[in-house]
Amino acid sequence: MVPANFHPDAPEDLIPEYRAEMVYECIGCGKSFDINQFLYTCPHCKSLLRIINKSFSRLKEKPGEYWQEVFDFRKMVNIPSLKGVFRFYEFIFPIIPLEDIIYLGEGDTPIVKSNPELSDFIGREFYVKNDGLNPSVSFKDRGMASAVSFINYMIKKFNIRELLGICASTGDTSAAAALYLSYLDKKIVRSVVLLPQGKVTPAQLSQPLGSGATVIEIPGVFDDCMKIVEELAENYQVCLLNSKNPIRIQGQKSFSFEIAQQMDYKTQNLVVVVPIGNAGNVTAIMEGFLEFFQTGVIKSLPLIIGVQSTHANPVVRWKEHGVFTPMSVKPSVAQAAMIGNPVSFPKVSHLVENYFKKNFLAISVTEQEIIEGMLQTNRHGHVVCTQGGESIVGLKTALKKGLIPENADVVVDSTSHQLKFMNFQQMYFEDSYPLEFEIHPRKELQNNPFQLKASASEIASFLKLKKKV
Ligand SMILES: *Cc1c(COP(=O)(O)O)cnc(C)c1O
Ligand SMILES: [Zn+2]
Repeated sequence: MVPANFHPDAPEDLIPEYRAEMVYECIGCGKSFDINQFLYTCPHCKSLLRIINKSFSRLKEKPGEYWQEVFDFRKMVNIPSLKGVFRFYEFIFPIIPLEDIIYLGEGDTPIVKSNPELSDFIGREFYVKNDGLNPSVSFKDRGMASAVSFINYMIKKFNIRELLGICASTGDTSAAAALYLSYLDKKIVRSVVLLPQGKVTPAQLSQPLGSGATVIEIPGVFDDCMKIVEELAENYQVCLLNSKNPIRIQGQKSFSFEIAQQMDYKTQNLVVVVPIGNAGNVTAIMEGFLEFFQTGVIKSLPLIIGVQSTHANPVVRWKEHGVFTPMSVKPSVAQAAMIGNPVSFPKVSHLVENYFKKNFLAISVTEQEIIEGMLQTNRHGHVVCTQGGESIVGLKTALKKGLIPENADVVVDSTSHQLKFMNFQQMYFEDSYPLEFEIHPRKELQNNPFQLKASASEIASFLKLKKKV
């Protein structure tokens, strides 16, 4: 719908006019820094940075209901830059002109009600928010849309002639980074990804290769790759696209904004279940709900439940013991979350200690539960990845522990698409898991193709078909 055809009462901010003063702020020493630069850690104390909107209070001048209406109307506007995560422009990165926003179809993912049998299996009804339906088929596109739009804006603003975007990845960050960077001018932008050799799935490796990125594999796990890119970002002119880049968190907040909108902004009974790896996602989700809460767009904070595999659960251990210690990880089918030293942990602890308090829980699940959570869910009309399976069995565990209120509205995050993690399904079906996974496939969940002759009668007798009368 063209904005001109809207009712005269349509909110005046339908096409965003609001522009903010944004700065980087150190979560350690509190110093702030000009936004017009690429910055990932505090130049003084090396702590993480976050993005602060110094004009945030201006958003509070209008009631929360007003912003609800703005976002609801915006759903109807056919301006590409407002179709994705920037539907929530004022809460994402309100310095980027609409024409500099890169929109590749990210965000606006559906919430799908759990099928009745699946609900019985888990113990209650819930919704799956399917972030596998993003362009590179994971939620990472949300943050890449804001980070790469910012790069695009900076290139134009400062007439940058040469730029190298780089990230370390458990697979999906590199797929998203390579995709979004490949949309920019190749004469200016080079794209490089660093992957732990053999620790990403074949689909995840093919994605950055297909987008034309330079793919570098190194021995070790994700945490090792992260150390290298941190060193590169510290000493060389590179543009870091890991979630340490606080501008990615800005786009990822849209996950919460969309849930709020999909629930008609009723969040008093909302529970959101998410897998935790490097903790960028859960940080963004909490920040998103917090900002909507602070501006009255929602009236209460939801309960956030983070889920981790027993093979990589430093956040769960922190919640249990009150101290955070990085751990070395064991192989996990939730490979995208197989991280022993989450970069964004300081942000999580800050948000939990200051705002979420009892509204944040962390739960461990086993590898066996995770893979079977994925298989069971996908047998009932859903499409979830292993991390989605992890969230879903996290819900099941939380229910058993009595942590979910009776009247809760539960939304579970499936962070990517089933197809990225097909090899784990295959290993289950073929009973070929290496021992370290501690996964023992059960017959009833296995499924393998049958090889038959090209003969209708043979296939009919195999299927025990009844003849037409
Ligand atoms: C990155 C990723 C995660 C983990 O998210 P963090 O922000 O690292 O906590 C979970 N699932 C998938 C599919 C991912 O790509
Ligand atoms: Zn600092």
